[in-house]
Amino acid sequence: MSETTHTENTAPQAEQHEFSAEVGRLLDLVVHALYSDREIFLRELVANAADATDKRRFEALTDTALALPGNASIRINPDKTSKLLTISDDGTGMTREELTQNLGTIARSGTRAFGQKLDSAKPEDRPSLIGQFGVGFYAAFMVADRVDVTSRKAGSDDAWMWSSDGKGSYTLSPASRSTPGTDIVMHMKDDAEEFLDTWRLRSIVRKWADHISWPITLRETNE
Ligand code: ADP
Ligand code: MG
Repeated sequence: MSETTHTENTAPQAEQHEFSAEVGRLLDLVVHALYSDREIFLRELVANAADATDKRRFEALTDTALALPGNASIRINPDKTSKLLTISDDGTGMTREELTQNLGTIARSGTRAFGQKLDSAKPEDRPSLIGQFGVGFYAAFMVADRVDVTSRKAGSDDAWMWSSDGKGSYTLSPASRSTPGTDIVMHMKDDAEEFLDTWRLRSIVRKWADHISWPITLRETNE
């Protein structure tokens, strides 16, 4: 192998980083233990998009340059041809450092506690645990074999892409995004194509994201 091997979908400048051991363990648990409740990945990603949008609105109170666009929304875009599901927001976004910190390590005590609980739970009890704890971002790896997160922090012109197959490492590369916010692009697993159907996505949004205070738009599936 040459010294400059890059994974698919990453720019030549992609730098590879290893997950913390704890993240690796949690990813393994989430992906293998919660199969029957996979649809909650959408709840987690929409909640994160809403949190990021709330955060930007709050930050804009003291810095008007960060103001949200008037049509701020959360967008769900399934593409059956390319088997990609994208969730986009106009939220506060993440810097390169925040992508590393927030998606590559487990800084949150809630997630750590969840991992420990899940570890010790009987397999049949594991699905119910997700009701009590948020699984968070890593739930995306239940349905996707690669996740690309492109983000531009509000107040900055720079964008970065974090990309991972959820198996131990991730890459960071320079990217571009015309406005601040975040795109989560999921390369869907072959057995998760049901989550590219508009009707299926709509029912999940109704079930889990009814309380979200930002508009959620769901693009019709292409056939
Ligand atoms: P939690 O939401 O409980 O903090 P998650 O695993 O869902 O845990 O997300 C981890 C962190 O990643 C979040 O706290 C946030 O800082 C960051 N994050 C995730 N999704 C987004 C997003 N769409 N926009 C901005 N930051 C995000
Ligand atoms: Mg979350």
